[in-house]
Amino acid sequence: MSETRIRGWCPGARRPMRSGDGLILRLRVTGGRLSPDTVRAIADLASRYGNGELDLGRRGGLQLRGVGDHDFGALEIELAALGLLDGDAGAEAVRNVVASPLSDLDETAQGDAFALARQLEAALVAETGLRSLPAKFGFSVDDGGRIGLTEVPADVRLRFERNNVAVSLDGDVRTVMLPPEETVAIALRLAHTFLDLASRIDPPPRRMAALVDHVGAETLFASAGLGMGDISRPNRTDAAPLIGAFSVHVGVGLPFGRITADQLLFLASLAATDIRLTPFRVVLLPGVSADVLPRLADAGFVTAPDDPLLAVVACPGAPACATATVETRGLARRLAQLKSSHRGIWLHVSGCEKSCASSARHAVTLVGRDGGLDLVLDGRPADLPRHAGLSPEVAEALFRSGTQ
Ligand code: SF4
Repeated sequence: MSETRIRGWCPGARRPMRSGDGLILRLRVTGGRLSPDTVRAIADLASRYGNGELDLGRRGGLQLRGVGDHDFGALEIELAALGLLDGDAGAEAVRNVVASPLSDLDETAQGDAFALARQLEAALVAETGLRSLPAKFGFSVDDGGRIGLTEVPADVRLRFERNNVAVSLDGDVRTVMLPPEETVAIALRLAHTFLDLASRIDPPPRRMAALVDHVGAETLFASAGLGMGDISRPNRTDAAPLIGAFSVHVGVGLPFGRITADQLLFLASLAATDIRLTPFRVVLLPGVSADVLPRLADAGFVTAPDDPLLAVVACPGAPACATATVETRGLARRLAQLKSSHRGIWLHVSGCEKSCASSARHAVTLVGRDGGLDLVLDGRPADLPRHAGLSPEVAEALFRSGTQ
């Protein structure tokens, strides 16, 4: 365990991040699938070593918060015993794969995303030449069914289409069609090509979309020995259809991605088979019937797909994050109630420009700066604000009067 270092960004279980409420450890769970016993064990660890609060991230990782420096070593030993710790920090970092959560249960799925994700993770860990990939460089494996991953950040995208897998690069809509058995090797080749081409640019692009901007997808595909394919037809991604009761699962939303150890224990007590984490801040219980929904709502989960809280995102903000100078989630909760129904996310409250909660453009973004809030319309936290240095009260009044 001696190689573990505490870093200031992109947390893992091997490489935690320091925040305002202690260390954050992110668990990368293959395909997001956890047994009820493992969920109980994680809840126990979160209570004993952390502050009992966890976050479900935008790539489906589960973060334990509030871990003390002195507890970190013992926590690592217990995570290893549960099979939740990679061999080293490099292996953990490169194993950055998101998969469709229901490919074994969704009758519209066109392939087994879980199996392909598992193969890809194993290959990435074994390929030590890819350890220099940027920390956020990641892959998605979409089963081609009703739960699309097109809005989940990924540098290399794999999507089952009939009997093949469509491979595409972030920043370009075109695909190359491959037989499934060739997909893992090609995904690795594209990652090597990324490293090679990025290293020739000063400064090197850190994400695939930036490299595609520089050299074009044709060059990337050709350098990896591939020809260009047809224009792809991305399938839809939306958290809403996952929430509620369906024929094969019950789904609940987590406001701002936050879940407590007690809530995890409650989910484990209801599970029929396993518990599935998704990159949509939604947790799924396969094989569970609709009659549990009222109890899940009482336990603080979002159970209605039109809940206004699903239309806002906010990072932890102050005091949980040491970088933040403003409180974020209380404000987002209050503002969420001002729009009773809204499709998609209309509001992003970010404690600073880093944009941990969302990298997308939103109709309204409030971003903390030096204790005040800047208001950006139709943009991202780093964009030019329409108003700067607002107090939370003034920002809220602007929304209530509709004059933002
Ligand atoms: S965006 Fe939020 S959570 Fe991320 S560093 Fe800034 S204040 Fe912290």
